[in-house]
Amino acid sequence: MKLVIVGGVAGGASAAARARRLSEDAHIVIFERGPDVSFANCGLPYYLGGEIADREKLLVVSPERLKSRFNLDVRTRSSVEAIDRARKTVRVRDLVSGREYEEAYDKLVLAPGAAPLRPPLSGIDLPGIFTLRNLQDMDRIKDRIDQGVKKAVVVGAGFIGLELVENFVRRGIATTVIELQDQLLPPFDKEMTTPIAQELARKDVTLLLGQSAEGFEPAPEGLLVQLKSGEQLAAQMVVLGVGVRPENKLALDAGLAVGPRGGIRVNESLQTSDPQIYAVGDAIEVKDFVTGEPTQVPLAGPANRQGRIAADRIFGRPSRYRGTQGTAIVRVFERTAAMTGASEKVLRRAGRPFRKVYIHPTHHAGYYPGAEAMTLKLLFDPETGKLLGAQAVGGAGVDKRIDVLAVAVQAGMTVFDLEEMELAYSPQFGSAKDPINMAGFVAAGLLRGEHPQIDVETFMATSVAERPFLLDVRTQHEYEAGNISGAVNIPVDDLRSRINELPHDRKIAVYCQVGQRGYLAARILLQAGYDAVNISGGYKSYLLNHPTDSSLTESGRFSARQAK
Ligand code: FAD
Repeated sequence: MKLVIVGGVAGGASAAARARRLSEDAHIVIFERGPDVSFANCGLPYYLGGEIADREKLLVVSPERLKSRFNLDVRTRSSVEAIDRARKTVRVRDLVSGREYEEAYDKLVLAPGAAPLRPPLSGIDLPGIFTLRNLQDMDRIKDRIDQGVKKAVVVGAGFIGLELVENFVRRGIATTVIELQDQLLPPFDKEMTTPIAQELARKDVTLLLGQSAEGFEPAPEGLLVQLKSGEQLAAQMVVLGVGVRPENKLALDAGLAVGPRGGIRVNESLQTSDPQIYAVGDAIEVKDFVTGEPTQVPLAGPANRQGRIAADRIFGRPSRYRGTQGTAIVRVFERTAAMTGASEKVLRRAGRPFRKVYIHPTHHAGYYPGAEAMTLKLLFDPETGKLLGAQAVGGAGVDKRIDVLAVAVQAGMTVFDLEEMELAYSPQFGSAKDPINMAGFVAAGLLRGEHPQIDVETFMATSVAERPFLLDVRTQHEYEAGNISGAVNIPVDDLRSRINELPHDRKIAVYCQVGQRGYLAARILLQAGYDAVNISGGYKSYLLNHPTDSSLTESGRFSARQAK
């Protein structure tokens, strides 16, 4: 068996290593266009910020190690230019000598990844405008920073964009981030990104939402970035993080099927439309694990697993790729945002019915020093309670909760299963009722009808005349520090004695700070014969949608000054 692999990083290197473990006899050739194989793309931003000090650490495995340990035929600086499917050969260009030659294959794995988008804007090729994909891009950006960059613009507030922002700020660079959408981190639901926007503001990062770069001009200071608003921003460096495009040219030229967004089409075995050719990683179209829709999810975990599965299939193992959940995490200074499964907007687009709840627990027992707050949003099927997705934002412990929920989504669990989950607990690590259990209690209570809830957007979207009577059950002090307009304050501890102040002929929407006292109040009212609902996640959820300390202005500028 001769296995040829195009691309020697996440998907390609995984496929090669697994293939060798399954067959000592196979001749395995990896072609990699760049000088490095198996490098840590995900670590690149942290070298720029200095957190990873040693560049060598990013070279996870050298070509020599791949040769000695796995007996792989690794050819770097070798670009595969074409596939001849009839003859089962690839045409390779040696980028050092310029020589071209053919290499035959029995099976071919395409793992060419995805290239950063460079929109065709005027001045896009000016010096000082970068993208980040590999160590060479990283070196160019670092050289620029080392020349003394004081101001930078990052275009795109996605995962890579925000990682760059954090690292530029670490280097003392005043950074502005421009995002076309009206929120940062587009895979998340908008309200869940509010704490991240606030964190950027706290770190004096200027975030321009609903704004785009329209062109670039040279300027004495370096560059002028022309914005859609007409404004111009001066910077010595611009980095584009506006998304990636699957490297599909080889596949297209070879007549392989490609989806509408450019991803190479594969089946569950990761075979392309030619059964002798497999494809993995950022270059492929995958099935969304929750909606079943075709999609593209450029993440390292899926790429690595797909590489392994493709090798399994080639060497006769029955593995299959189940689809991609989009489990992702990003740290932005002292905040972490993570998600798994479908977002609310994806479910809406797919027309899939869902319910949602918000909770705002601490990551471990509140009485133990150092408890950090988080917000957890759970999306689930309204009939069965099957988990559809989850998002969390906060500090410590966000990673653990999303990982538990990622397992639950993949296992097809329901909110009722979350109630029963037995998770490791001592006060340094969690709570006897872990946030996962709490989310299960709240969601299951909703489905069982024991804990009627309304989400804050639904409440606010109802005309004032038709809204339920709004009852704030926090203390008077909390109420006076900020409340939802129109709310009447009766603290939960006084509710039983003052219940007669409430109208009997109106539905009552109750809220507290995070939803817990609201739940108790709703139970008191329900048992007293009132028609009561709790606002899910309480005032904290309201603030996610209506941030008062750092309101988005009409121009979409999330200003550092306002947030302070
Ligand atoms: P790649 O790793 O991009 O490898 C493809 C390789 O194929 C490239 O080296 C390319 O040179 C080579 N190639 C392409 N065409 C040819 C050809 N014709 N001939 C020869 N060689 C070719 N994901 C996460 O899950 N978490 C993170 O924190 C994270 N952070 C990231 C940070 C950065 C800065 C970047 C750039 C990406 C990050 N990712 C992260 C995404 C993750 O790195 C990718 O999803 C993953 O590397 C995809 O693996 P792949 O094998 O498909 O492609």
